[in-house]
Amino acid sequence: MYREPIFLKPVFQERIWGGEKLKQEYNYDIPSKHTGEAWVISAHPNGPNVIENGFLAGKTLAEAWNSHGELFNKKQEDYPLLVKVLDANDNLSVQVHPDDTFAREVEKQPYGKTECWYVLSAEPDAELVLGHHAKTQEELEKMMDHEEWDQLLNKVKVKAGDFFYVPSGTIHAIGEGIVILEIQQSSDITYRVYDYDRTDADGNKRELHLERSKQVATVPHQQIKLARDVQQSDGLKITTLVQEEYFSVFHWQLNGKAEQEMTTDFLQISVIEGKAELTTNESTVHVEKGEHFILPYGMGSYRLSGEAEMIVSHS
Ligand code: ZN
Repeated sequence: MYREPIFLKPVFQERIWGGEKLKQEYNYDIPSKHTGEAWVISAHPNGPNVIENGFLAGKTLAEAWNSHGELFNKKQEDYPLLVKVLDANDNLSVQVHPDDTFAREVEKQPYGKTECWYVLSAEPDAELVLGHHAKTQEELEKMMDHEEWDQLLNKVKVKAGDFFYVPSGTIHAIGEGIVILEIQQSSDITYRVYDYDRTDADGNKRELHLERSKQVATVPHQQIKLARDVQQSDGLKITTLVQEEYFSVFHWQLNGKAEQEMTTDFLQISVIEGKAELTTNESTVHVEKGEHFILPYGMGSYRLSGEAEMIVSHS
């Protein structure tokens, strides 16, 4: 059994709303001043990660999933999740994603997109859009047609450490000055509802998808309450952020030493603060802020030591 963490090379995506914080805060080797996203755990064809270490070095995560399913206790066709770090130097478009059924029937794509966000940093007064105020489908369509965005959209102030669960069908937008870690279904289908009438360098507005948005938006908006369960053992405090259909996400606060045992098919770990050592029976690796890796199915027990914050997720 392979018992090493799998490290991946991020893929960067330039966006009109992107900035330079992925370099400033995480020291990533970004391609430009408008880098919006680092896809840090991705088997998606639009941004496939290459494995950096071990016997699979040089292969993509998708290739590893297909040829070495035992590393993930593989139970489905595709690697199910996608992890990104997003730098919103400007507002992202207001958008909505379809569910699996709509993605398959209408887009001929395998998955819809349910996502969640852990806020890594936020400037004072930063806010995002989560949900809307329309009571009925008719009211939603009327407010969209009349561009009554201020009345329609529900805005939420955010700070570092906040967490949001965003099921498919939720109208949403990440706002200026926010850096988030996003964990989502491995899907790239977005319907743009409103883009602040922005234009690109050539003076063109980005395309909107109003009909599709109206078809997939959840009306009225449903706010799912998340209970934050906390468990402390040794030097590790584990806070459950969400446990829902597509993924479970936890915040791990490591202060000192902890022994852990793999109980899931695989584990995605994003180090968001500090440094730690991860030791198996065979080796010790050092991990630090900005690194993301996967623990394979055969990890068994392993030890952590250090001072670090991690966002840990699995399907
Ligand atoms: Zn989204």
